[in-house]
Amino acid sequence: MQEAPLRTVTQLIEYGLAPAEERAELEKVAQRYAVTVPPALAALIDPANSSDPIARQFVPDGRELEITGGENADPIGDDAHSPVEGVVHRYPDRVLLKLVHVCAVYCRFCFRREMVGPGKPTMLSKDALAKALDYIRAHGDIWEVILTGGDPLVLSPRRLREVMNALAAIEHVRVIRIHTRVPVAEPDRISPELVRALKAKGKAVYAAIHINHPRELTKAARQACSRLADAGIPLLSQSVLLAGVNDDERTLTDLMRALVECRIKPYYLHHGDLAPGTSHLRTDIASGQELVRALRGRVSGLCQPTYVLDIPGGYGKSPIGPNYVSRSAGEYVIDDYQGERHRYADSVTARS
Ligand code: SF4
Repeated sequence: MQEAPLRTVTQLIEYGLAPAEERAELEKVAQRYAVTVPPALAALIDPANSSDPIARQFVPDGRELEITGGENADPIGDDAHSPVEGVVHRYPDRVLLKLVHVCAVYCRFCFRREMVGPGKPTMLSKDALAKALDYIRAHGDIWEVILTGGDPLVLSPRRLREVMNALAAIEHVRVIRIHTRVPVAEPDRISPELVRALKAKGKAVYAAIHINHPRELTKAARQACSRLADAGIPLLSQSVLLAGVNDDERTLTDLMRALVECRIKPYYLHHGDLAPGTSHLRTDIASGQELVRALRGRVSGLCQPTYVLDIPGGYGKSPIGPNYVSRSAGEYVIDDYQGERHRYADSVTARS
């Protein structure tokens, strides 16, 4: 049983997770983009399956060296909205606070792959964090702070407690949301001490957990999520629609149901961002819409995420799911979950 994260191509080959004959190409990928596969995720990979959906997410692939049209280093335009280091202020009422630039696992489709990983600054310096907090204090319209990175839950409980206490002291910040893949990648890190460190007096603290395949919800991952939920932290999911990972009805259904069973409300299903070298993992929007439509007919409303695209250039997220409403002859036409159409006359009494 592997005990430490696999961080090199040689280790991946030794553990049978990457083909030796592709070593030279994979080394080139690893020089460019960070590689880490922690034991909890390596154990899920079936080495005999060359299209294993867990391996596709975390084991480097020679196709990452192919950059296609539209792909760029900052696919969702964070830089255009960064007033001070570590803060992205794209929407009026919320900011991202990027505390760290390292993760417990490096996803091959990562939209921040040019900014995270070894060789990049690992975390916000004390001075930069102080300036970021000053910025949040000075902007009374910031209602929500989203801790992201990298993965904020790689920080020690002590560091997290300091940040949460600082945010708790800002009156106008009402909600703190933590985006993380740690409960899946390193479930034991979600210790009772770390969970306690996430308390912020007087604020609502949410955790958005990144999970793309139902197999990621192992017993240990489910227990880690339970520790967060039992502490009163509502859980949301964010998933990325990925070719060969979860772009089929059965897998998406199983994923969304498993999330809800773990008290994680499906929140976003992201269309793959135009991150460099990720075209082999992207789907097209039309098939994404078909999948989302199929999901609506198949599973409970609790299991429905919003299918979104982060518009390149920093214009924010927009829902891109299927449309169920059209107009014909002065009436609305509404599609039901089986695709049948129904007329609806919009009948209202005029307000006096
Ligand atoms: S955990 Fe998030 S930030 Fe880190 S590599 Fe994966 S997608 Fe990127």
